[in-house]
Amino acid sequence: MIRSVLAITDIRPAYTALLAGRYDLHRFDLIKDAEAFLNETGDKITAVVTSARFGLSVELMDRLPNLEVITSFGVGHDLIDLEACRARGIRVSTTPDILTDDVADTAIMLMHAALRNLVKGDDWARSGKWSANGPMALTRSVRGKKLGIVGLGRIGQAIASRAEPSGLEIGYFGRNPKPVDYQFFDDLVELARWADILMLSCPGGAATQGIINADVLSALGADGFVINIARGSVVDEPALIDALQNNVIAGAGLDVFYNEPHMDRAFAALDNVVLYPHHASGTVETRDAMAQLVVDNLNAWDERAELITPVA
Ligand code: NAP
Repeated sequence: MIRSVLAITDIRPAYTALLAGRYDLHRFDLIKDAEAFLNETGDKITAVVTSARFGLSVELMDRLPNLEVITSFGVGHDLIDLEACRARGIRVSTTPDILTDDVADTAIMLMHAALRNLVKGDDWARSGKWSANGPMALTRSVRGKKLGIVGLGRIGQAIASRAEPSGLEIGYFGRNPKPVDYQFFDDLVELARWADILMLSCPGGAATQGIINADVLSALGADGFVINIARGSVVDEPALIDALQNNVIAGAGLDVFYNEPHMDRAFAALDNVVLYPHHASGTVETRDAMAQLVVDNLNAWDERAELITPVA
């Protein structure tokens, strides 16, 4: 049974209010003296509510000796040390599946926006360049391109199922081949050499840190595009900026960055990249469903020591 809950962030006001109505809820982001709070209340906290963006540091976890459960808003858990949780018997849940469609839609949106130069086209019409200068430069067709997906999981497969009817050929890289008809590559450089568009949908964390490096980008080539809805950490960001500045690749569509929300300003100066502020799941419908699942996981733990969507 849950005693006090520590919320690292507000998941959604109405759902944080639900938690406050049922539990003794402490908002860590609103606490002025964290040290005093942890000294006085740390041992009463049995549950933490957090998000993929904030995770839970091992240092803070160590200050919560009776912590039983962490329920996180989002699907990435690269900012929660699952091994440390397992070692202490702390259970962890995320909010998978319900955000898959919106994230896959965003990936497809960024792909079209990058190849068809949507942002430049909007500016061309809006700013009067169209009437002053005539038609803007031609763009690239999506149909007939090869889409190389890095991480063919729930989101990667949802992207593939949307891309196929648009006439893209699918290949993928991952730890293991899947029971699908798409071409499997066990080498990332080979996938990049084959692909016109590299779509990143794998987890972040140590295993994927910087795997999209200068070698992969140069294998993708001057007509190639990178679309990233995974994590900024998956990309060697200086190498990507260099590749975009020097036309090593043609362009990119990016929802995620290494240092969020303080994105490297070099991206803002580039006209061959479409930027989105880590908002792939940022719809009212999906964020409400995610917040409800956080609440449901916490209540399931409180009522029957179970989690609905555990990852540890
Ligand atoms: P998932 O179902 O667990 O899929 C992850 C896929 O990545 C699996 O196919 C997995 O392969 C593969 N993978 C794991 N480790 C890998 C590695 N070291 N190298 C290459 N591939 C690897 O997760 P999901 O629900 O699709 O979510 C994927 C990721 O998307 C999340 O972890 C998160 O970082 C990101 N995401 C971003 C947003 C956003 O707002 N931009 C929202 C949600 C999620 P195996 O099956 O072989 O293990």
